[in-house]
Amino acid sequence: MPDRSPQSPKQPPASAQRPTAAHEEEPASGGRGTGFAGPQTAPPSGGDAQRRGGDVCDLLVIGSGAGGLSAAVTAAHLGLKVIVAEKEPQFGGTTAWSGGWMWLPRNPLAVEAGIVEPIDEPLNYLRHELGERFDEARARTFLDAAPRMVEFFRSRTALRFIDGNAIPDFHGRTPHASLGGRSLCAAPFDGRRLGPHIQRLKPPLPETTLWGMGIASGAELRHFFNALRKPASFWFVAKRVLSHWKDLLVHRRGMRLVNGNALVAALAASALEAGVEIRTASPARRLVRDGERVTGAVLTTSDGPVEVHATRGVLLACGGFPHDDARKAALLPHARTGREHHSAASRGNTGDGLRLGESAGGRVGADLLQAAALAPVSLVPRADGSVAHFPHLIERAKPGLIMVRADGHRFANEADSYHDVLQALLQATPPGQPVQAWLVCDHAFMRHYGLGAAKPAPMPLGPMLANGYVKRGRTLAELAHACGIAADALQTTVQRYNAMARAGKDEDFDKGETPYNRMQGDAAFATERGWPNACMGPLESGPFYAVRVVAGSLGTFAGLKVNAQAQVLDAQGQPIPGLYAGGNDMDSMMAGHYPSGGITLGPAMTFGWIAAQHLATPAAAGAAPPSRGRHQQPGKAGSAVSLD
Ligand SMILES: Cc1cc2nc3c(=O)[nH]c(=O)nc-3n(C[C@H](O)[C@H](O)[C@H](O)COP(=O)(O)OP(=O)(O)OC[C@H]3O[C@@H](n4cnc5c(N)ncnc54)[C@H](O)[C@@H]3O)c2cc1C
Repeated sequence: MPDRSPQSPKQPPASAQRPTAAHEEEPASGGRGTGFAGPQTAPPSGGDAQRRGGDVCDLLVIGSGAGGLSAAVTAAHLGLKVIVAEKEPQFGGTTAWSGGWMWLPRNPLAVEAGIVEPIDEPLNYLRHELGERFDEARARTFLDAAPRMVEFFRSRTALRFIDGNAIPDFHGRTPHASLGGRSLCAAPFDGRRLGPHIQRLKPPLPETTLWGMGIASGAELRHFFNALRKPASFWFVAKRVLSHWKDLLVHRRGMRLVNGNALVAALAASALEAGVEIRTASPARRLVRDGERVTGAVLTTSDGPVEVHATRGVLLACGGFPHDDARKAALLPHARTGREHHSAASRGNTGDGLRLGESAGGRVGADLLQAAALAPVSLVPRADGSVAHFPHLIERAKPGLIMVRADGHRFANEADSYHDVLQALLQATPPGQPVQAWLVCDHAFMRHYGLGAAKPAPMPLGPMLANGYVKRGRTLAELAHACGIAADALQTTVQRYNAMARAGKDEDFDKGETPYNRMQGDAAFATERGWPNACMGPLESGPFYAVRVVAGSLGTFAGLKVNAQAQVLDAQGQPIPGLYAGGNDMDSMMAGHYPSGGITLGPAMTFGWIAAQHLATPAAAGAAPPSRGRHQQPGKAGSAVSLD
């Protein structure tokens, strides 16, 4: 096979190129639990896959979450013809279920609000947090590009942001931690802008919604918690619900999109408006190579296998390996068979991108502190017999809740980040015992905040009791019995906790001591009740409730090793021509640490933007000039095309 390095003869632009024949299609060697099966690249000749004249582009993006769509939108604005291939019938992946928060220090919204910090501030925070795993070059690349990425999207695309100027970093005691200004969220988005494509947008995870209506974090969520206590909140909620019901009647789904759903919708609208083709139900099954160079992929479609030829390259953004049992077993010590880890990520994320990358010579990082973005997850039985994985991100920090293991003892500061709480549970669990704990609260808490997928009043609790998701006991002893928790120990734990809550000081785990804890807590509610700590309230009057949580995640961190341009690296550390990785298919720049909320989506957006600029530079990508000139800005050969 001829060896064609990036410097070898230029390929013609996509518009002028005919697709090469693809190859006989085989079932995916990926898929749930199939692990690291054999090569998935195919030589560029022979085979019987379908030929289709339109299957040539400059950039093929595999996966339609933030990692993929950020690159797709950027590349289209730089004049590249882009195809996005999505495995599921709807686009958006885990991103569409997410909170939509992105860690993007020094972003323009913070600066405009007067939060101006030199690059060394977030850089040194990462240096302290990541310790020996800190990669300064990569961190600098990210921190330098992040504000410019935001500026590009807010000025040139449909994506708008809301600020995170009051959102602190997770670890307030670490030097250079911020009290706010390092994160952004996607602003609410009007789904009607997607036109008929709205039906192809993955809706939010039902358990995190009210009748399918997403609720934005912050002020909006507070209104929902206070709907039965404060007239202003009641009217806010009533208006939101009525408008949502109207949308359901007219459009069959809500149109006021928030959080990660708004992020995906805005990115997809921007992509479609810039001429990107998004093909759903089209999983990539193998890469196509010409020598060392990745030149496309074979997709499985309802019309049979189709080869897409990509003149500039392929970007893998399949969302990591949260549902690949073999890889989980290999990289997550608590998941012996992989099935012990219950990720809340999208079920289509079965590790395909990592296997595709490996088939072309890429390497998956095995040296991260944690291979996944850990979170306590509860298992919610659904009416159709399936089980939802609900990540506990919000209620743990509210006053009046504790987490205990089966021994009846607390093991962590419940108000810490989901990642830290699950790490603490893993450490507290003796070898051989199941990784599980219970969130425990009293009746007042349950009806005010809800517990996991069980919603607060006035939503009925009965169905969640009937299906066994929520356990109830008139007394703590009865609750302990229902859950299999040591009853005496639980009563002692609650007694001690209540005394500490009234005093406002957690002598055991320092709950409520960091800015992040307090932001997640509820100072207003605690103050009303005379509790001095925003995260602590006594569990007083029954009935008492519990929900069991197990080991899970929001996604995975271990991914393909890449360079600063997101090019996938081979075993020698050299870029594989034509192959890029994005989102969670890219080894996390946080190296398995979790310093702040939004550290997957922030880098996903930023490195997608960087990769697209690299791809748009013919010499850098080792390929032809882009096939479309309409949005392109001039770029120097050999250096990245800039969108600034
Ligand atoms: C409830 C929840 C809240 C979260 N909140 C946040 C937050 O606020 N901030 C944050 O930073 N992170 C958050 N996360 C994590 C975050 O959502 C993910 O890390 C992120 O969305 C991953 O983006 P991605 O582009 O890598 O993957 P995804 O968004 O999952 O997209 C990957 C896509 O690739 C597709 N795919 C897989 N295999 C193939 C194939 N062979 N061919 C074609 N397509 C394929 C998948 O179907 C999927 O659509 C949250 C996660 C959850 C579950």
